[in-house]
Amino acid sequence: MAIDSLDLKKSEGLMEKDNSLTEFQETLREAAGILNYPPQVFEFLKKPMRFLEVSIPVRMDNGKTEIFQGYRAQHNDASGPTKGGIRFHPDVTPEEVKALAGWMSLKCGITGLPYGGAKGGIVCDPRKMSLDELERLSRGYVRAVSQIVGPTKDIPAPDMYTNSQIMAWMLDEYDHIREFDSPGFITGKPIALGGSKGRETATSKGVLYTLEMVCELKKLSLKNLRVIIQGFGNVGSYLAKYLYDLGAKVVGISDVLGGLYDENGLDIPYLLENRDSFGIVSNRFKNSITNQKLLEKECDVLIPAAISGVIHKQNASSLSCSIIIEAANGPTTKEALKILDEREILVVPDILANSGGVIVSYFEWCQNNQGYYWTEDTVDERLKEKIIESFLNVFNTSKQHGVNLKIAAYIEGIQKLAEASRLRGWLKC
Ligand code: GLU
Repeated sequence: MAIDSLDLKKSEGLMEKDNSLTEFQETLREAAGILNYPPQVFEFLKKPMRFLEVSIPVRMDNGKTEIFQGYRAQHNDASGPTKGGIRFHPDVTPEEVKALAGWMSLKCGITGLPYGGAKGGIVCDPRKMSLDELERLSRGYVRAVSQIVGPTKDIPAPDMYTNSQIMAWMLDEYDHIREFDSPGFITGKPIALGGSKGRETATSKGVLYTLEMVCELKKLSLKNLRVIIQGFGNVGSYLAKYLYDLGAKVVGISDVLGGLYDENGLDIPYLLENRDSFGIVSNRFKNSITNQKLLEKECDVLIPAAISGVIHKQNASSLSCSIIIEAANGPTTKEALKILDEREILVVPDILANSGGVIVSYFEWCQNNQGYYWTEDTVDERLKEKIIESFLNVFNTSKQHGVNLKIAAYIEGIQKLAEASRLRGWLKC
């Protein structure tokens, strides 16, 4: 991971201004309205219950000290400890972290996990930092938030540009502070430190199982289905490989620098072999296109698997797909979704489609608490079971209320949060 000179901010300039928190709140209000909840439910759930902002001094390799800003948002802990990843990205803002924590709460509600949602973030550009600097930053973050996290309080995990090595450093720092071994403090760890088999591929598998459910519903076959995956990081690349192996035609992929499209299907194994550690491969090809162009190319299924806000009101009318599966968090704006609904393009929402990651994180935490480790087949089987059950619940709710899958997913999630809060005596609803 010795970092090249790419600037994450410039290379990802395809998204609209981040509006995640407003979008989360508006959709939450709509779902709470459909359920006829009193206004306090929305007032309570629109923001995290707890939000911590920290400054982290890190000694850089050149001997100077840099101060990094970090955040941890805990949205709601009525159903259990809070749970959610930590992202390292230059565009991290308090608003985005708060929205992401809210989405985590909904995700845990939809999938029936005994957690509320949380999210953390550090404003940094990991591609411009050395491994030693990243280690010092990771440890510094844990020291800064150690009062409010823990295996029965708030359990972090990987998110954008964080991985199992970063989880390992964070676990080690936490163990030093607490003076005992607590593998259940963090998930997405390396297997040698108590990680779960199948955690690394869990989000992609969850997206795949979701797509299989959609195919079943629409009487489509995965074979020769034309799929575009925007993003070739952890989620996008495993997904591309699974789809390729199952005979689907992955006609497009992209990374932060550009996209590749071939109507006859791309050679995914070749692309996987030739990407760098940040998933970048498009710069090796002369005929690469922009991310924006790729989104508008013809396909059956479009899977945004990178950043938020890439499908917006300016491009929603130009998309040439009939199904969108949101593998990233918040890739479709509210205005775009309205246009897509009118165009009868089916959108499977992020808080359902990408829940495989947190589901297997939960399995990892259960294994840590038990000290008993499962086989990969057991993990896979239980993941599939949970995704299918959650998908059917959301689908039936959408039919029952005559709403799209996004609103239906919010309804499912908010019901769990409201019920747990009511039973604790926090809300009357
Ligand atoms: N960061 C992932 C997400 O957004 C996983 C969270 C977790 O495993 O706790 O769902």
